[in-house]
Amino acid sequence: MPKTIKKVGVLTSGGDSPGMNAAIRAVVRTCAYHNIECIGIYRGYQGMIEGDFKEMGPRSVNNIVNKGGTILKSARSLEFRTPEGRKKAHENLVKAGVDALVVIGGDGSFTGGLIFNSEYGFPVMGIPGTIDNDIFGTTHTLGYDTALNTVVDCIDKIRDTASSHNRLFFVEVMGRDAGHIALNAGIGAGAEEILIPEEDLGLDRLLDSLQKSKASGKSSSIVVIAEGDKIGKNVFELKDYVEANLPEYDVRVSVLGHMQRGGSPSCFDRVLASRLGVKAVESLLEGKSNYMVGLREDKVTLTPLEQAIKGKSEIDRELLRVSDIMST
Ligand code: ATP
Repeated sequence: MPKTIKKVGVLTSGGDSPGMNAAIRAVVRTCAYHNIECIGIYRGYQGMIEGDFKEMGPRSVNNIVNKGGTILKSARSLEFRTPEGRKKAHENLVKAGVDALVVIGGDGSFTGGLIFNSEYGFPVMGIPGTIDNDIFGTTHTLGYDTALNTVVDCIDKIRDTASSHNRLFFVEVMGRDAGHIALNAGIGAGAEEILIPEEDLGLDRLLDSLQKSKASGKSSSIVVIAEGDKIGKNVFELKDYVEANLPEYDVRVSVLGHMQRGGSPSCFDRVLASRLGVKAVESLLEGKSNYMVGLREDKVTLTPLEQAIKGKSEIDRELLRVSDIMST
């Protein structure tokens, strides 16, 4: 028989993303709904090691559903990667009477949770929180939808300048290993070309496409480039390359950077966070552990943490074709 859970700890770890606060709120309120206690753990695993805890009730999460970032703060903890660090963290949890954990973060945070579970048998549930949408087992991670809207909004603004001056803009978006943001925001914002880590479209094709675009009478062009595009050139090197080969183009670069991680979460992310938070706590109460809650075919599902960590979240290749057709 699994141990009855009376107190759940919740933490946010790794990079922050919009919707993390809404997920904290959902975890805290689901605990209150089921008459169990909840504590917030500050600064991810580092706060667990230092015992940086705070009792949380339904009123301690008022007015955060609409806020970006995370009220619990996030951190990357080197000490938690050591057995000694995890031992200290376990002692603090036991002292505080915590008997299960909800970890909101990316695959690194899930790996930490899984190792902690294997050493101490501590029940752990993961909620995927990262704008990159690069986690297997869910069609959407928390913050991804908000980031897409932010990127589309920025590119719309950049296009105003691009079309006023007949310019070509290269816009770099986040995504070192995953092209979800570039591909979806690129289509949404009407980009002429989209360069992503999953697919090497080749430099010849890029030049060819830009030439065709000019010949067909387009007044401006936007190329969206993920940080980790497979061509292997960074956005500034690409600009130099294109200007050297197509002197008729005046190329400008815009690196969107951290603004993509901030801001008020979209309605979609708030609802997703609420659904995932409820499922995470209720699954723990049912005696489950080592799962990630996620969304598949609009249903909240559980994926073993191990699969969520090892699996690859594939891009939808049909979107490449759609993008191609749209740039005609
Ligand atoms: P993001 O997607 O933003 O990078 P993440 O959760 O993948 O989020 P990481 O920095 O990889 O971010 O991991 C967050 C924290 O999880 C680390 O700082 C560390 O404390 C813990 N962690 C990651 N990997 C391990 C591991 N192998 N053993 C123990 N702890 C780990």
